Amino acid sequence: MTYPDLNQKIVLITGGAAGLGAAAAKAFLDEGCKVAIVDISADALAKTQADLGVGADRLIAITADVSKEEDVKRYVTETVTAFGSIDVFFNNAGIEGKVAPIVDQKTEDFDRVMSINVRGTWLGLKYVLPIMYAKKSGSIINTSSIGGLVAGPMPVSPYVTSKFAIHGMTRVVANEAAAYGVRVNSVHPSPVNTQMMRSLESGSGVSQEAIAATIPLGRYAEAVDIANMVLFLASEKSNFVTGSQFRVDGGMLS
Ligand code: NAD
Repeated sequence: MTYPDLNQKIVLITGGAAGLGAAAAKAFLDEGCKVAIVDISADALAKTQADLGVGADRLIAITADVSKEEDVKRYVTETVTAFGSIDVFFNNAGIEGKVAPIVDQKTEDFDRVMSINVRGTWLGLKYVLPIMYAKKSGSIINTSSIGGLVAGPMPVSPYVTSKFAIHGMTRVVANEAAAYGVRVNSVHPSPVNTQMMRSLESGSGVSQEAIAATIPLGRYAEAVDIANMVLFLASEKSNFVTGSQFRVDGGMLS
């Protein structure tokens, strides 16, 4: 165990069936946590649950769409019913949207990304925070992106808009939550070796090798690289850290 204080902590993860969310689920389970993974894909959830190989006393899977208010209320209630509370919230589900210049994006393309990435993240905060406020503790990690700090060369205006919004949301909500002993930070990964990058590579026509060459450490992040930062932000080792942005980017924005 890297962070003994995380043992037995209750962790809620959205987008938990794949990529960063699934890697974080494994990392928290390895620390002795109880974990609820939420995802829109029931099939992917079932597969991840089986891969993680942990019983229902330590891992539950909840099918929900983070952009739907009733689903968000339900995933919070189901987690609290199963495990008793929520100590850590990895507010992570997101989509990349379409790769195209703004003049070729449809308004519906923009709305879809905003609804999952921004509304979904905001709703998660809205319904998880009261649980943490009641016990005057908790740590929330929102997933933004390096695209929430700078605009890169890829034409993904809905995505970048959404990730800057998550950055701003993190900072304002951290101020509100501090009085209740709850911390809120954001992680900002560069390209990570997940399905999302496969989609961005094919959408942009730029290869993994070409993108990796723009990263000083010379490679994509692996999902576990982000999970390691999330663990730190969840643990008491970061207990004076809130409202902050953490790049996990191999030096890309240095
Ligand atoms: P991924 O596509 O591998 O996994 C995302 C998961 O979210 C999937 O299991 C998907 O089913 C789920 N999901 C999508 N829409 C949902 C919804 N409406 N409700 C519930 N679940 C939903 O992607 P990933 O790479 O793991 O990305 C996770 C987060 O990290 C996203 O917010 C993404 O923007 C961010 N991020 C990723 C990268 C990268 O290069 N992969 C870089 C920076 C930031």
